[in-house]
Amino acid sequence: RSWGESGLPPEILRAVEEVGYKEPSAIQRAAIPVALSCRDVIGVAETGSGKTASFVLPLLSYIIEMPVLNEVTKSDGPYAIILAPTRELAQQIETETRKFCNRLGFRCVSIVGGHTISEQSFALQEGAEIVIATPGRLVDCIERRVLVLSQCCYVIMDEADRMIDLGFEEQVNKILEALPVTNTKPDNDDAENARLMSTYLGGKDRYRQTMMYTATMPPAIERIARQYLRRPATVII
Ligand code: AMP
Repeated sequence: RSWGESGLPPEILRAVEEVGYKEPSAIQRAAIPVALSCRDVIGVAETGSGKTASFVLPLLSYIIEMPVLNEVTKSDGPYAIILAPTRELAQQIETETRKFCNRLGFRCVSIVGGHTISEQSFALQEGAEIVIATPGRLVDCIERRVLVLSQCCYVIMDEADRMIDLGFEEQVNKILEALPVTNTKPDNDDAENARLMSTYLGGKDRYRQTMMYTATMPPAIERIARQYLRRPATVII
C-alpha cells in the first residue's frame, strides 16, 4: 500500500513526499490508519522500523484538523506530548518530528535534562504545538507551572517499558493524571469517538487519544494500558 491510501491529509502527504519517504514502512502502514480512526494504540516495533513517523504523522493530522486551531492565539498549546525514556531518544524523536513540523509551520519544544528550567520556560513561552519530553523533567515543569497541559489531548509514550525500567512509573502516572481529558466512554464506536474528537475543545466531552509503544508488556505497562488507554488496538510488526 502507498502513502495515498494511508488516510493522511494532503498537507501531510506533501510533507512526506518532500522529506523523501517513498513508501510507508510496515509499522506506518499498520498504525497510521488505526490512529487516524481516533483509536488508542499499543504499538510494538523496533527502532529503525519507522515507528517515530508512525506516531508523529497521525499526531500532526490531529493538530491540522483541530477545528479551533485558527481561532486560538498562537501561544496556546501544547496540543500533544511525546514522552521518551531518555534524552537521547527524545532528541532522535525531535529530529524526526522537526522534519515535518518545519514544513507544516508547527513548533515543537523538547523538555529534557541538560537545559535549565528557565531556558525551557522561555522556549515554551514562545509557544509550541508539540512537547517532546522525558518524564522527570516534564513533571518538574508541570509542578513549577512552567507548562500547562490543559489543551493537551494527544499523548504518545515511546519505549514505555524502558520508562518503567528506568523508574519513571510514578512520573508517567503523574503526567497522565495531569491531563485534562480522560477516556470515559470505552463503549463508543469509532465513528462516535471520531465525532467527539473533532469537537473536543468546544464541548464538554473532551477526549484524549493515547498511543503507547513498547517492546514488552510487564505488569506496570498492563496497568497503564488498563487505566489510561481506551479500547486500544494492538499493532505488532
Ligand atoms: P525510526 O524507527 O522512527 O527511528 O526511523 C528510522 C529511520 O528511518 C529514520 O532515519 C527515518 O528518517 C527513516 N524513515 C522512517 N520512515 C521512513 C520511510 N517510510 N521511508 C524511508 N525512510 C524512513
